[in-house]
Order: sequence, then structure tokens, then C-alpha cells
Amino acid sequence: MRRLTDEQVDRIARMLAQQAGGQPAAMAGAGAVLPRPAAGTPLRNLPAGGYVAAPVAAHPATAPIVPGGDGVFSTVDECVMAATIAFHALSEATLAQRHEIVAAIRESLLREGDRLAKMAWEETGLGRYEHKRIKNRLVTEKTPGPESLIPQTTTGDHGLTLMEWAPFGVIGAITPTTNPTSTIICNTIGMVSAGNSVAFNVHPGAVQCSMETVRLINRAVVSAGGPQNLVTAVGRPTIESAGELMHHDGINLLVVTGGPGVVKAAMQSGKRSVSAGPGNPPAVVDETADIAKAAKDLVYGAGFDNNIICVDEKEVFVVAEVADSLITALRREGAYLVDQAQMRRLEKEIFSENRGPRAHSVINKELVGKDAAVILERIGVTGVGDVPLIIAEVPEDHPLVWTEQLMPVLPIVRVADVHRAIDLAREAEHGFGHSASMHSRNIDALSRMARVANTSIFVKNGPIVAGLGAGGEGHTSFTIASPTGEGLTYPVSFSRRRRCVMVDHFRIV
Ligand code: NAD
Repeated sequence: MRRLTDEQVDRIARMLAQQAGGQPAAMAGAGAVLPRPAAGTPLRNLPAGGYVAAPVAAHPATAPIVPGGDGVFSTVDECVMAATIAFHALSEATLAQRHEIVAAIRESLLREGDRLAKMAWEETGLGRYEHKRIKNRLVTEKTPGPESLIPQTTTGDHGLTLMEWAPFGVIGAITPTTNPTSTIICNTIGMVSAGNSVAFNVHPGAVQCSMETVRLINRAVVSAGGPQNLVTAVGRPTIESAGELMHHDGINLLVVTGGPGVVKAAMQSGKRSVSAGPGNPPAVVDETADIAKAAKDLVYGAGFDNNIICVDEKEVFVVAEVADSLITALRREGAYLVDQAQMRRLEKEIFSENRGPRAHSVINKELVGKDAAVILERIGVTGVGDVPLIIAEVPEDHPLVWTEQLMPVLPIVRVADVHRAIDLAREAEHGFGHSASMHSRNIDALSRMARVANTSIFVKNGPIVAGLGAGGEGHTSFTIASPTGEGLTYPVSFSRRRRCVMVDHFRIV
């Protein structure tokens, strides 16, 4: 763990005291007035509450960004320094206190999650408000806490060995515009549960809702007696500040959630990274499937938050024998089927660059995350009401099959048999190893798909969001790290393994 120099301690304490309006710093929670630490104060002697960065006044939802409040800072350096002090304070806390801090975060976000969902929806213009509410509630309730850090013991003639989960220190986290508030909530609960502090560089298109989330989290931490600035964020994030965070000396682990660019940059940074990248999840439907159920799941899954979630179904391969009945069932569930002429017009709208057969084309950013009705309007289809999903039958080499579209337009490919469907699903997924689903009652075919797809999430007979714990069993995560192998991240993903050995004593058996 990086230790701050005396000069750095002095600088950060001065900066934080200044931001508190020149008032002596107060210990969080207790309200006690404390003098600024003298240069050279060992970090372990800093107060558990840290030093107040700014008044903990209520911020209205529309408040402008004021760097320096409740964890929000102007520069990457300030974020990392304040988070470093908070990390050391947290290290002094008991495990029971860590549980209390996480419980306070959950309690606050359960109260405020809907408001944050509205902010995220209004600010980014992506997805659906009602689905953003579900996402915030899901991460608040189902992201595992400190209880998931289960130590392991080995005993024998030579004593006892304990395998513990230890924190990394300060985590640099980069978050997407598609799930801005839910990723911050999920990352925070997982990372703080593991004893870390976090410095966030969020997507520039989702700043207001992200800063509000960071402020609420810090207030909750402090209300539980935890340190100020346990979670920090750059008030005006850019790609450059993301790069700075990736290379900052004070960052002990990088956790990035986004498209191929940020994953590549993190993996080239020279730091250890937990990298959650893009997906293009295929769904296979075979002749043994419950077609009515498959259609219901596909409309829900592919339409969820207008398809901007990385796990949402992005293309369907259906065995020819049941293709017509699947399309009929999808329409019954409310999906709008475009004909070939409409599809040709749609292609011009949804791609800003159509790179042709089997190519990952460039999507038109204007239509990312927009409602199906808005997309249909672009091709002159109006008065269709609140359509959850557009569907189109396309040949297997159509670029929509091979492109992560992030909009509610689902291509459907008719194939000869289930083996062809599985092989195409694997190819269309591009080897991301992210997510896939299959609707079938054929155990052999399901097993083959699970093995061939080899994705972090494989859902059988349900929408893929069920793999996030939404309508399926298990914990949730909004950082699914397929390139680096952690899969659905949780506190263990943000922990170091530490072996503690007592020789020749404490043998249990
Ligand atoms: P994005 O890649 O445009 O941005 C993600 C974050 O990375 C942002 O904060 C952005 O500022 C930053 N960033 C982008 N390029 C960077 C670079 N070269 N250097 C440093 N930082 C950089 O993605 P987005 O549009 O916000 O989100 C959608 C993408 O993220 C989709 O591809 C989706 O599949 C993926 N995603 C994956 C997961 C997962 O868990 N695997 C979760 C959510 C989103």
C-alpha cells in the first residue's frame, strides 16, 4: 500500500481545511473540532473521521457541480489524496463498523435510488426511467457486502494457516454512461466492503447524476461514523482525467467498465486491472423451447432499458422449424416487426457507418438507448404507442447481428438446426466471453451451448438480466469483468489474498 509523504499529508490537510471554509476540520459524525495535523503526523494517527472537505449541506438535484463537496474534487490528484487518507482511516475501523458503513449506504440509496434514476435518465437521455429504478434498487439490495469475504483455514501438525481477503488500497474506477448511477453504487458497495476507498472518473455525459450519487454515498458513510471522502470523484471528468487516474501513483487497482477503448487503455496502463468490456449477447431458440415463454423473455430482456445494458440480448438465432411461431409470439408480446423495405430504411438510420456483411458497424449515437417509437418515427412509422422492441428478420451476415447496437432493434436469424445456431452464436459474440442465453428443453444442446459460448453469464430459459440477479438467483454486479476473468465482480474481486501462518500452534484437529 502506498504511504503518503509528510509533505503530501500537509498539502491535503491544508486543501481540505480550506474547502471547509477555513474552519478547523471536524471529525465526521462526532462534530468534534480538531486541529489540522502537523506535517509528519503518521497516517495511522489521523482521526478515524478524516477531515471535512466541505459542509455536508443538502444539495438540490439541480445543484451545479461544486468541486470539493462530499467527495467531489477538481483534480485527479486531490481525489486520490483524499481517498488515500480515507483508506487509512477505514483500515483503522473494525469490521463491524465496515458493515455499518455499507448498511448506511444501502439505506440511503434505497431512499434516493428513484431520484438518481430520474436524474440519470434525464441527463443521459438513454434508456427508460422505470428500468433505471429497477437497476438502482437491484445493485443497492443485491451487491454483496463484507459478509462475502469468507476466510479459509488449513490446520495440521504444523499449526494453522489462515487465508484472508485484504484490501488493495485506493481503487481507480471508470464508469459508463449506460448505467451511471447503478455502476457507482455497485462498485462502491463491493469495493468499500473489501476495505478499499475509491476515486471515480465517470463518463463525461453523466456527470450530474454521478456526482449526486457520490455525494449521497459520502454523506451516508459519514452518518455511520465513517471517514470523509471514502469515495471521491473528479468533478469535471474527461478522457484525459481518466488517463491520469489510470497512471496515478496512488492508485493500487484499476476497475474499468465500458467499451473496448477503455478496456484496452486499462490493460495497457501497467497497473493491475479488473476490466469489464463490451458484449454482443446472442440468444438461441431451438425447436424444443417453450416458444411463448421465450418470446416474453426476449421482449423483456432485449427491451430492458432500451437495450443499453451490456447483457441485454443483441441477436437471436432461431431454428427454422419454430421461427414463424417465435416471430408471431414476439409480436403478441408487443414487438414491432419491420418488413424488408422498412429494414433497409432503418439500416440508414441506425448505422452511421455500415461496414457490410459480418462486420461490426458503427452505430448512430443519436439513436443509442432511444425508445423504439422514436426509432420507428425515423422511418416514418408513427402512432404505434409505447413499443418495447423492434424486431427484424435478417440474414446471418447482416451487420446488425455482428454489432453491439445498444438500441431496441433486435435482429432474428433463421437457421437450419440447433448446432448451426450455437456455432453462429459463438461467432457473433466475438469471443468477448460476456453473456449469452438459450431457450430449449434439450439438455445436450444446452450443455453444448454453455461450453461453446463460454461466457461469464449464460442464462437458460430466461431473459439475460436474470443473470444479474433480476428475476434469477444469485448476487448482482454491474461490472462484469470478462476480459480479466472475474466475471460478476463482488468484494473478493477487489481484494488481495493474504496468507497468515501460525507455526506449530493453534492446530484445530
Ligand atoms: P465508453 O467506453 O464510451 O465509456 C466508458 C468509460 O470509459 C467512460 O467513463 C469514458 O469516459 C471512459 N473511456 C472511454 N475511452 C477511454 C479511453 N481510451 N481512455 C480512458 N477512458 C476512456 O462506454 P459507454 O458508452 O459509457 O458504455 C457502453 C459500453 O460499455 C458498451 O460497450 C457496454 O457493453 C459496455 N459495458 C460493459 C459492462 C460490463 O459489465 N462488462 C457494463 C456496462 C457497460
